[in-house]
Amino acid sequence: MLDSSLDDALGAGPAKVLDRAFGMRSVGDLLAHYPRRYADPGELTPIRDLPIGETVTIVAEVLSSSYRRMRNRPGAMVDVVIGDGIGRMSLTFFAKNLGAAQWRANELAVGRRGVFSGRVGMFNNVTQFAHPEYELFEDEDAARRRADARAAILIPIYPATASLQTWQIAKLVGRVLDGLGDVPDPLPPAIRAQEDLLSARAALEQIHRPRTRNDIDPAVRTLRMHEALILQTALLQQRDAVRALSATARPSKPGGLLERFDAALPFTLTPDQQSVGVQIAADLVGSWPMNRLVQGEVGSGKTLVALRAMLQVAESGGQAALIAPTEVLAGQHLRSITRMLGPELSPLVMPTLLTGQLGAKERRRAALRVASGQSLIVVGTHALLGEKTTFADLGLVVVDEQHRFGVEQREALRAKGASPHALVLTATPIPRTVAMTVFGDLDTSVIRSMPAGRAGIQTFTAPLAEHPGWFNRVWDRAAEEIAQGRQVFAVCAAIDTAAKTAEVDAEQVAPPADGANAPRWGVVQLDEALATHPRLGQVRRAVLHGRMPADEKDAVMQAFARGEIDLLLATTVIEVGVDVPNASTMIVLDADRFGVSQLHQLRGRVGRGGVPGLCLLVTEAESGTVARERVDAVAATLDGFALAEVDLELRGEGDVLGAAQAGVRSSLKLLRVVKDADLIVRARELGEAILREDPDLTENPGLQTAIARRVSDEDRAALAKN
Ligand code: ADP
Ligand code: MG
Repeated sequence: MLDSSLDDALGAGPAKVLDRAFGMRSVGDLLAHYPRRYADPGELTPIRDLPIGETVTIVAEVLSSSYRRMRNRPGAMVDVVIGDGIGRMSLTFFAKNLGAAQWRANELAVGRRGVFSGRVGMFNNVTQFAHPEYELFEDEDAARRRADARAAILIPIYPATASLQTWQIAKLVGRVLDGLGDVPDPLPPAIRAQEDLLSARAALEQIHRPRTRNDIDPAVRTLRMHEALILQTALLQQRDAVRALSATARPSKPGGLLERFDAALPFTLTPDQQSVGVQIAADLVGSWPMNRLVQGEVGSGKTLVALRAMLQVAESGGQAALIAPTEVLAGQHLRSITRMLGPELSPLVMPTLLTGQLGAKERRRAALRVASGQSLIVVGTHALLGEKTTFADLGLVVVDEQHRFGVEQREALRAKGASPHALVLTATPIPRTVAMTVFGDLDTSVIRSMPAGRAGIQTFTAPLAEHPGWFNRVWDRAAEEIAQGRQVFAVCAAIDTAAKTAEVDAEQVAPPADGANAPRWGVVQLDEALATHPRLGQVRRAVLHGRMPADEKDAVMQAFARGEIDLLLATTVIEVGVDVPNASTMIVLDADRFGVSQLHQLRGRVGRGGVPGLCLLVTEAESGTVARERVDAVAATLDGFALAEVDLELRGEGDVLGAAQAGVRSSLKLLRVVKDADLIVRARELGEAILREDPDLTENPGLQTAIARRVSDEDRAALAKN
């Protein structure tokens, strides 16, 4: 049984080792630890290309082997040379005494082949393994006999640790497989046949113990489909659970708040704002609570869409809560909502800010307005989730920037009303299948069209590796913009590169890609350098970063928004949502240290008003590196969705999913959300079909148990985090 504990299946010793190395508890956990690749005993691994400093596992042959007594201390040494037919490397073992050394040297006899694992080092220009572990293949005679009978058996190479070698894992997996009875199949038999997939038992056998290379593909295909189907069905069940709740309908009335608001709008809604608005209006009068994700680039008008939903809810006395990731953004939302409502509508809904930073008196007054139901639009930060905050009639929850916000928090806020409607806004364009995977329980809408009248943004890379002189031109350009009365952002990947903690200071910066350099510029260093710049030394300059107290950050941001600062030197704290129409230029230093989506978001800060935007991506990354490719990709297009796909390809989706939902990541072993897009779509269709016939999965016990196991895994992962 997959649920059996490893303790029962393998005994306490191995179970403890597996738990410590990988956190595995059950047989299912171990069997879901798939080989990374397969080695063929007949094919040796090229030694020349081994990465120095990394732990690797290779297949090689012993070329020579000798032992000797240590000269100056007790013990003996064994020197072994292994090779791949071209290159060679040395292994060194220490032994307690001459006898032990002799035994080892005999075991590693010339001509023996095996798997060797260790950290690759360099000594006297010879590649070596420092503390190698190895497992020899059966001796030559036996191998020859077997080779006669059948083709060589593949050696699975598992993700291993220093204390648990791949061949040890293979042995434990083998023992578990030998003792494994029937495995319940998550795929209904009809689907299995139709999709031409293996049984669960056969798939596990073939991925761990393939007899030939031909065994591997069908096994991977089958297990991938398991992952996709289990995940999609679980998400669909979650969605259906919300749909089973009853919601308070919030219809808009003729002549009501929404109609009055629309009539007073100084512009017309974009076609996408219109169609998403229609969807939301329908959701709000549906028989279950709305649970919708709206994706749209910065400046596409999401806040406006959310505000219209709030007004519709307010018409029947319902309250709406908008929760933002930072104080700055909450404040900005409140101001822009108040401004959009205008002096006539504002008093009717009494927009109220409720954050942790209000003074005690102010906060009490705000809380009272919220609790009494006087305020129909409440904007805040996490403080809204506090136990002390109560609503008279919470009808709608709006979450801005989902990726900064956990599912649990969304649920906590939801719990403050009687299953209120929920709207999630995100400016991070998410490829469709990622949305399906991460937000698969939500209905999704996309706002693609931007409001008319935008002057547009031009983006250029300043590649210092090839053109060092462009660094000065970047600042000349900044000075020109400022001379025309415009404002400029300069973003750094670190606060202070001189501090030992530079990396820690970096806010929200992507892990270094191949070819990326350590950040050269911290906000602190840039500020010092520009102080003596002939044209920028005199402009109104300010710094902004995450180590400043929140009220200071807020003050700087607001001063910038009022036009009292010409040049803002910042980290990515300015990333989300900030709206300064007069800001024309975004300079990003060490741009290769940022993710594609992040650069795109930063660029979205400028060109928001009537002034044309300019984005300068400064990088020292050499042409041809992944780091540089990321930067150039952003310069090449303004399409956020296309960039999101590029980002996934270049960065690997672990990060993308990981940031969104750790649970999803831990449950995806073989599935790749971009590469396997078609499979995910197919799995969703299959999941829909299965649930339509069998909502409780009583007729599909294999799928039901698989989902239950996955959910309990997630609980465990969540517990481990706390
Ligand atoms: P987002 O929240 O998606 O970043 P906002 O809703 O804050 O975008 O809108 C950005 C700016 O564009 C705001 O100043 C807003 O008033 C304005 N805006 C929104 N929709 C339109 C539209 N249809 N036409 C013109 N301007 C718009
Ligand atoms: Mg916004």
